[in-house]
Amino acid sequence: MKRRNFLQILTLTAPSLLTGCGHLGKLCAHCFAPSTSSTHDQPLDFAETQSLKSSEEKALPKNVKLDQQSRSHYFDRDFPDDIYARGAELEILQRLARKIGYIQSYVGHGHFNILGWDEMIRFAAYAPGLSPFSTEEKAYLEGLFYAEARRYGFMGEKIFKELSHGVSKGHAYKVPYSGHYLKKGASLELYEKLRSDVGDQLVLTSGLRALAKQFHLFLEKARETGGNLSRASRSLAPPGYSFHGRGDFDIGMIGLGLENFSDRFADTEVYQKLIELGYVDIRYTEGNLLGVRFEPWHIKVES
Ligand SMILES: [Zn+2]
Repeated sequence: MKRRNFLQILTLTAPSLLTGCGHLGKLCAHCFAPSTSSTHDQPLDFAETQSLKSSEEKALPKNVKLDQQSRSHYFDRDFPDDIYARGAELEILQRLARKIGYIQSYVGHGHFNILGWDEMIRFAAYAPGLSPFSTEEKAYLEGLFYAEARRYGFMGEKIFKELSHGVSKGHAYKVPYSGHYLKKGASLELYEKLRSDVGDQLVLTSGLRALAKQFHLFLEKARETGGNLSRASRSLAPPGYSFHGRGDFDIGMIGLGLENFSDRFADTEVYQKLIELGYVDIRYTEGNLLGVRFEPWHIKVES
C-alpha cells in the first residue's frame, strides 16, 4: 500500500488525525530547538526508551535487598532473579522491535501513538518492504500481552485487558507542535491548567498511547537491555499496563531534551513549580512498591 492510499484510509477513519505535527519552522517539542529541516517530520521520540543510555554499565551494589524498593531505585541494573528472553525468543523479540519500529516510521510518530492492535497488524501487511506478521510473531506478541507481567516483576494494574482494546480516536486531541495526543476531558484540561500556571516552559513529551506504541516501547527497551524483560519493565509498563492508555501523560521542560526522562527533571523549575502548586499527582513515586522507577515527569490523571 502506498503512503498516499494509507493516508486516504486514515482520512476516512479519523480525519482529525491528519493535522500533522506542524512543528516545521516552529519550536519542535521533540528536540526543543527551532526546527528548520524536513527531517523533523520524523522526530526522535523522547519516550522511545524513557531513559538516557548509561555510558557505563553499573553493577548492582553488594548486599542490596531484592525487594521492590531496591528494584525501583536501581531500575537500570540487572538483578540476579531477572527474567530474560533468550535464544530464539530473543531473536523474535529483536525482529519484532525492528518491525514495529518500521511501522511507526511508515505511519508517522504522531499517528502511531494511537494505533491499535488490528491496525498495526494491517499495516505490516501493506507497508512496502515489510512482510505481514507471521503466526509465530503474532503468537509471541499475544503471549507477551496476555502473560502476567508479575512474572518478571511488574506489579502495576492492567489497563487494556484485551488486544482489541484501544484508545477512542474520537476522544484523542492532537496537541499542536508536540506530535502527541491527549485524551479530551480531564487529561487535556489538566495539561492546559499546568501550562497556564507554569508557563510555556512546560511541554508535553508523551501523551495518549495505544497498544502498538506500548509494544514498540517495551520491545525496544527489552532489546536495549539484552532481552532483560524485568529491567525493561522497571522503566516502561509492559503492553496493556500503561496508564498512558487511560489518559496519563508525560511533561518536560523546554530545553532539557532527553534529560526530561531522567531524575534531572525533578531539579527543574518546572517540576518545583508543580510541587508548589500542589495539584500534581505523580503515578510512580520514589521507592514505589510497583517495581517501577521514580518518574517525576509522569502525570497521573484520574479518569
Ligand atoms: Zn509516562
